[in-house]
Amino acid sequence: MKDEREADDVAIIGGGLAGTAIAIACARSDRPARVRLFSPENPGRGAAYGAGSPIWFMNAPASAMSIIADDAEHLVRSLHCAPESFITRERFGEYVGSTLRAATADRPNIGVERETIVNIERRRDDFVLEDDRGFQYRARSVVLAMGNAKPADDFLPRELRASERYVGDPWRAPTSELPNGDMLCIGSGLTAIDHVAAHAHAKRSGTVFTIARHGFLPALERADIPSLRYAQLELDDASPLALLRSVRSAMHRRLAQGGDWREIAEALRRPSQRIWLGWTIAQRRQFIAHLASLWGSLRYRVPPATADAVAELRASGRYVSLQGEIIGASDDRDGIVIEYRTRGEHRRLRVASVVNCTGPNGDLRSNPDRLIRALLERGLIRPDALHLGLDATPSGEAIDSEGLADERLLAIGPLLRGILYETTAVPEITEQARAIAQRVARDIELCVA
Ligand SMILES: Cc1cc2nc3c(=O)[nH]c(=O)nc-3n(C[C@H](O)[C@H](O)[C@H](O)COP(=O)(O)OP(=O)(O)OC[C@H]3O[C@@H](n4cnc5c(N)ncnc54)[C@H](O)[C@@H]3O)c2cc1C
Repeated sequence: MKDEREADDVAIIGGGLAGTAIAIACARSDRPARVRLFSPENPGRGAAYGAGSPIWFMNAPASAMSIIADDAEHLVRSLHCAPESFITRERFGEYVGSTLRAATADRPNIGVERETIVNIERRRDDFVLEDDRGFQYRARSVVLAMGNAKPADDFLPRELRASERYVGDPWRAPTSELPNGDMLCIGSGLTAIDHVAAHAHAKRSGTVFTIARHGFLPALERADIPSLRYAQLELDDASPLALLRSVRSAMHRRLAQGGDWREIAEALRRPSQRIWLGWTIAQRRQFIAHLASLWGSLRYRVPPATADAVAELRASGRYVSLQGEIIGASDDRDGIVIEYRTRGEHRRLRVASVVNCTGPNGDLRSNPDRLIRALLERGLIRPDALHLGLDATPSGEAIDSEGLADERLLAIGPLLRGILYETTAVPEITEQARAIAQRVARDIELCVA
């Protein structure tokens, strides 16, 4: 056991945006809790906000990216930036880290352990956590904030996955370390666009290709999207198909009135968890199978400066977006030859590197992470019905292999994708962080009462 003092009130596993937001919310609470944040990386960075290309911006204006749920101006005030400006993701990570330092400056009961937790044992009144050095810690509650697992790749040819030219984790492989020459990004969402923009910004040689089955590209973001009230849109959200139809006609109406279709997409944001929770598992499956890629391209939009870099590369003919599916790969002296099927035809492409940009792998069954494996083996968690994350109640209480919710084992952010769907971006994560801090404060009150 690390030390003999009392168990912590809460142990937070993962110091990315989500875990750090909880620690900040606990520090701002007037009920001081004993909090331990486990973060092998600098707190506040995680997969999204570590060091990266200066062309990687937040995908929404500063006015929407405050880390404090009840203080929307906090980021703008802290960074003295314009509310409509787009800040770099690296600067956002620094902002989250410095907000933690400021919030905990006079809170000695909140500590950061730069360690990785590899095992958690549930006991009657608390948990025993073990880090990868074998040290143990005790906590009365635990929050799983391990965030984004690197993309799945079991659907890719073995030869590709075995190649030195293949990059499986797009968020921790700096573009500068990739071999010079043509590059293929698998997927065409924001992560792929990041790599296209970084290639352009770094003035690297070669052409960049993206490949995706659906071929949708993310839309451009704008800073001045007025927010509409969902109720006034009278959308039919009883089923994915009904919602698709009514959103489509609402967007056409808005455009005909001289408005912007993004207003409709933004108005859907706040009620989207309620809509998802209102659908049956079959309807959610239908959405994932037929609409998620289209919705993703409208919902997760490209910041203007990033879009400009991509447009410039496309105009020069050095960015090509392909629609198709990879079916084979073979390394040779000059690169890796990718075989792909597009509109029933087989084509080949030789590139110097291939980056998997298909998005975080939410399927716990194929997630090799030691802690995830241990939690599954112990039956403390189980995959959700859609295999997008872990099973939980809408307020994030993990459901165990017997189907019982554990009010002391909580999850936040991307791990709740199957339960809430809209649970990965800054506003939703800071809301969840606030709710968890309030729960911890209530719990302490009950203990002292
Ligand atoms: C590339 C990218 C860009 C994004 N850009 C935006 C954006 O512009 N705007 C927006 O609103 N949202 C954005 N998002 C979505 C969202 O903000 C992120 O999903 C956010 O990073 C989620 O934070 P997180 O803390 O849950 O996960 P992560 O950022 O993945 O952090 C998880 C942390 O947990 C740590 N960890 C994992 N396992 C353990 C363990 N066993 N023990 C200890 N620590 C562990 C990891 O090292 C990591 O630091 C982006 C996401 C990505 C991937």
